[in-house]
Amino acid sequence: MLYRTDRYGNQLSELGFGCMRWTKSGGSVDLEKAEKEVLRAVELGVNYFDTAYIYPGNEAALGAILARNPGLRDRICIATKLPHYLMKSRNQTEHTFQEELTRLGTDHIDYYLMHMVTDLGAWKRVCALGIEDWIQEKKASGQIRQIGFSFHGPTDEFCRVLNAYDWDFCQIQYNYMDEHSQAGRRGLETAEAKGIPVIIMEPLRGGRLVNLLPERAKQILTDNPHGWSPAEWGLRWLYSQSGVTVVLSGMNSLDMVEENCRIASEAAVGTFGPAEQTVLDQVKKEIGKSLKVPCTGCSYCMPCPHGVDIPGAFRCWNEIYTESRKSGRTDYFRASILRHKPTSASLCVGCGRCEQHCPQSIPVRAMLRSAAADLETPWYKIARAGVKILRLW
Ligand code: SF4
Ligand code: SF4
Repeated sequence: MLYRTDRYGNQLSELGFGCMRWTKSGGSVDLEKAEKEVLRAVELGVNYFDTAYIYPGNEAALGAILARNPGLRDRICIATKLPHYLMKSRNQTEHTFQEELTRLGTDHIDYYLMHMVTDLGAWKRVCALGIEDWIQEKKASGQIRQIGFSFHGPTDEFCRVLNAYDWDFCQIQYNYMDEHSQAGRRGLETAEAKGIPVIIMEPLRGGRLVNLLPERAKQILTDNPHGWSPAEWGLRWLYSQSGVTVVLSGMNSLDMVEENCRIASEAAVGTFGPAEQTVLDQVKKEIGKSLKVPCTGCSYCMPCPHGVDIPGAFRCWNEIYTESRKSGRTDYFRASILRHKPTSASLCVGCGRCEQHCPQSIPVRAMLRSAAADLETPWYKIARAGVKILRLW
């Protein structure tokens, strides 16, 4: 296993264990199976385990595995998350945090994250509840060792959130298809320049860069002289970047643990050269053939004076055609409604300002209309109205 350092010089395995995808049986985590996978991963050097308050039964399952294996807690770091968007007071935050400690059977969290921050407004909202003082107290008491945030939103907002607080680390969705969307490479490099470690989630887009690749793209990857699998290509691309600290993988089989640990013991910074990049560029081109709109996520068209997240809407619209309707619409719901202010494609009033800045010459207005027709289903509209009412409440 190769290790990278956090902000304070602690050694973190470059492969992290994402607990969210543990196998379920009868609605709850299959503890026996998960325990075997955890113990094997620890044996092979993994020391970073990621969970969250809102993953059903997940913190409690990790707590149960720790309780069954004396000494294990001291060998691993736990990362878990606060659903800050549900918090209405400092007391509620404290209560939720204590519940997490109880579920995990521990007296401290090594890496604590504000879960799913989408923009600066979301962070400011929770600041108004006194979260900064609360974090300071928790860190002083040793109950929280390091504080960070996980992010889903556009690059500019990521940079704003990054600069709005003295974070110890952050977590972003990043993979070779999201190189220029979400926080993206620019976000990663901004964090690196500030000395803030970055944890990577969705390194293979929830497995979609393995299971849902077009046939031709799969062939390009598997016909390579290295003999790497599609998953290995995606992971090695990440490990090669110096701004990446830990790559989370939602492992749920012993084979996956063995394979991912092997890759993480070989793939160091700078080991993905120009020849490998050329292969991935061809793969991206193949995936691009099924895109609805050739948006690169560069954000030159932003900001829209009416609040539309143009690259975000196009990313989710493309996802419908390259992955699945469900994943594209779920991402769109998260990216456009769960923000401080809605950013839906249908907010476009057709002023045309964005089109003058698009290097791809995309007819943004027409494309947004088509995207909204596909993405904004009756259920989406009901949910948007529901969220609006909840906000007023
Ligand atoms: S055309 Fe629509 S998306 Fe573009 S800037 Fe105007 S309102 Fe925003
Ligand atoms: S400028 Fe064009 S390519 Fe860039 S994000 Fe906007 S629509 Fe996409």
